[in-house]
Amino acid sequence: MKQAPIPEREDERLSALRAMAVLDTPPSQAFDDLTRLASALFDLPIALVSLVDSDRQWFKSVQGLCISSTRRDQAMCARTLVARDGLMVVPDLALDERFADTELARAHGVRFYAGATLYSPDSHALGAFCVMDRRPRQLDPAQQELLRALARQAQAQLQLVLRLDQLHTLASELHLRQQILEQRCVELENEASTDALTGVGSRRAAEDRLRHECAIAQRLRLPFSLCLIDVDHFKKVNDRYGHPHGDEVLRQVASLIADAARSTDYIGRWGGEEFIALLPNTDQGGAHAIAERIRRRVENGDWDRPEALTVSVGLSTFTARQPGAEHLIGLADAALYRAKAAGRNRIEAAATPGDG
Ligand code: GH3
Ligand code: MG
Ligand code: MG
Repeated sequence: MKQAPIPEREDERLSALRAMAVLDTPPSQAFDDLTRLASALFDLPIALVSLVDSDRQWFKSVQGLCISSTRRDQAMCARTLVARDGLMVVPDLALDERFADTELARAHGVRFYAGATLYSPDSHALGAFCVMDRRPRQLDPAQQELLRALARQAQAQLQLVLRLDQLHTLASELHLRQQILEQRCVELENEASTDALTGVGSRRAAEDRLRHECAIAQRLRLPFSLCLIDVDHFKKVNDRYGHPHGDEVLRQVASLIADAARSTDYIGRWGGEEFIALLPNTDQGGAHAIAERIRRRVENGDWDRPEALTVSVGLSTFTARQPGAEHLIGLADAALYRAKAAGRNRIEAAATPGDG
């Protein structure tokens, strides 16, 4: 067969074809319905949806032939790509020197061919919707119009495949973005609930936890205590040894408090050099013991300088008669103030109702 002319802008045409994402995909009922319809409508044995790739034509749907592609230089549809008015009819291949020795004519006995061009949305010729017969024949103008109509349906179907593929890509992209966002949310939540300097809980997280523990204590009638722990004369530490050293001291204090507490306790940074310890299921006596352990560990800490470091602790215990997180904090704060006033490096407990 004499080579079919290569369409203008062949590179763009091939890009448009590949963007369709239809080459080498499995058979699909929508295209097969169209070729079956064509075969029945024109009463001929062969109907194809052919897509013309760089060096082959590949059949998205095929009726009446048991091949799925041919070389491009054997493809009559390659000529339909450049057909005027988007239609090529060859009444008898045997009488047409362009096609008499094509593979379809020789090996498959094809005599008649009619193809309508399939276009991309931006008017690139992608292939052809074609019908063939093993005897010579004609298509009258009304039948030619029907063949074009079937080609338009195949074209619409190709665009659906493209849209579907774009939707899939979009869906995967969205899924990926959602995963990244979720991951970032987890990170942000961790950042918000952790104090960046000391690694213990943040103020916000400690407040949330405090409300939660108060609700549990009230609901289950369990004891619950909290300690406000404030570093004594911390300003002097900064003043004498510098802010970075002060930061390191805060990290060590946080770590000593966490080590002195139990695994069920919660430690947070309440303010600059002030920490909070939430002690679930702990009465005032138990809380005092833990506060004392914290106080001693800080006092005996290895601070790498002449002056000792100490903390003062204000302690309050939840009871049914003085419920509420804020109330409990107020009591501990007042107790802490008394501990400072009484000389620091000590623990003061809020009086519980009924005491003295
Ligand atoms: P008191 O015994 O009465 O608690 O005295 P204090 O010096 O500890 O208390 P004061 O409130 O006067 O000073 C607290 C200091 O803590 C002041 C502030 O600059 C310092 N501070 C707060 N946050 C940080 C921090 O993140 N890093 C460092 N290095 N210092 C901090
Ligand atoms: Mg202080
Ligand atoms: Mg303070």
